[in-house]
Amino acid sequence: MTDSPEQRWLADAAARQDVQLERLREARETLWINPLRQAFAEVRNTLPLGPADIEDASQRLQRFAAYLRTVYPQTAASDGIIESPLRCIPQGARTLAQWLGTEVPQHLWIKCDSELPISGSIKARGGFYEVLLHAERLALEHGLLQPGEDYACFASPPFRALFAEHAIMVGSTGNLGLSIGILSAQLGFRVTVHMSADAREWKKALLRSKGVTVIEYASDYSVAVTQGRAEAANLPRCHFVDDEDSSALFLGYAVAAQRLQAQFQVQGVTVDAAHPLIVYLPCGVGGGPGGVAFGLKQVFGDAVHCFFVEPTHSPCMLLGMHSGLHNGISVQDIGLDNLTCADGLAVGRASAFVGKVMEPLLDGIYTVRDEHLFACLAQLRDSESLALEPSAVAGASGFARLLAQQAELPTELASIDLMRDATHLIWATGGSMVPEAERQAYYAQGKALL
Ligand SMILES: *Cc1c(COP(=O)(O)O)cnc(C)c1O
Repeated sequence: MTDSPEQRWLADAAARQDVQLERLREARETLWINPLRQAFAEVRNTLPLGPADIEDASQRLQRFAAYLRTVYPQTAASDGIIESPLRCIPQGARTLAQWLGTEVPQHLWIKCDSELPISGSIKARGGFYEVLLHAERLALEHGLLQPGEDYACFASPPFRALFAEHAIMVGSTGNLGLSIGILSAQLGFRVTVHMSADAREWKKALLRSKGVTVIEYASDYSVAVTQGRAEAANLPRCHFVDDEDSSALFLGYAVAAQRLQAQFQVQGVTVDAAHPLIVYLPCGVGGGPGGVAFGLKQVFGDAVHCFFVEPTHSPCMLLGMHSGLHNGISVQDIGLDNLTCADGLAVGRASAFVGKVMEPLLDGIYTVRDEHLFACLAQLRDSESLALEPSAVAGASGFARLLAQQAELPTELASIDLMRDATHLIWATGGSMVPEAERQAYYAQGKALL
């Protein structure tokens, strides 16, 4: 009888007393530094996707701006472009540093994807993009779309009639379902969202109110995705948004980077080797943080350093990258339960391709306990009036985590004054749609811990 690859790796790791694996098993907070990261110049031509793919996605979103402006008047101010604010948070920096007992970072910023219009999370980037790409493809195939036509036509009866004959499905812990469901229903598609047990009740209710079919599972995310994928395969004219394996989602997220670059330019913030940008990205299956980080490397090269953040009970990307097995191993394989208050990050098995793509690009991954998330959520609300969900604050303590283990960081980060010269960016991935009662409950849980 032969062991499976993950069993072999686990046996080898145990034999060599792998410290990282021990910490993961015990659900202790840990920082993992990626040993396979390379200089960007050495890898840029080996990557499966490149700047031309991101530019193509960016232009498609530009074309659809006319449609989004038409059906969502709240996007008129940004001309139909779905983008979030970038804020400097000096008060948050002082509050967090004091609580964490560490130095105050002089340049702490937050990217408020929590405030993205229409669906209030980072999924409005990838999720919307994949739905729009699919809609455009169908319109072209059916001869409905003429070159150069104003995309406001996507709101017209012939387009809606076409989409009514097509279905879109997705499996989700909540926010992806929300993004895909809201926009697909708006376009006129028949939509089904397969929701894992972690998904909040209010997200299911909101989707149902928009005519979306919600199927609930008592088990976790990977079951919801597997079931959704199987069901979609048996239906004609059905597109499955595959969060475990989608380059469309990935490119939708990647477009964020050039937009962020423009925002930093407006703020007069320089990003270079002496003033690196360090970005902390909450990670579930990996598509969101992976896509954003991929875009950031294309824009800033070696001057940007990306760290993913995962809950101590759901460190699927850390486990996948550290073992090199990627989606060939799950957190359940090492005895973890994949239960966390960070519902957007409650994923036990990483994406099939993101970890592989990130291998030469990512600086590292750290893990956080749920209590820590609630506490950071309360601190950011008190200091900066930010309304965030637990998943979204995972990056809030990143600066302190790096400072505590600075000697282990890549040379470019180990050799500078981290709290003076680096720009630290917390990617706040969601929260503005959370109902008030739920928001209060998160806050109260955090306050009780301070
Ligand atoms: C989905 C999500 C993430 C992580 O994105 P993945 O693509 O699953 O890695 C982070 N934060 C929030 C709020 C999310 O909804």
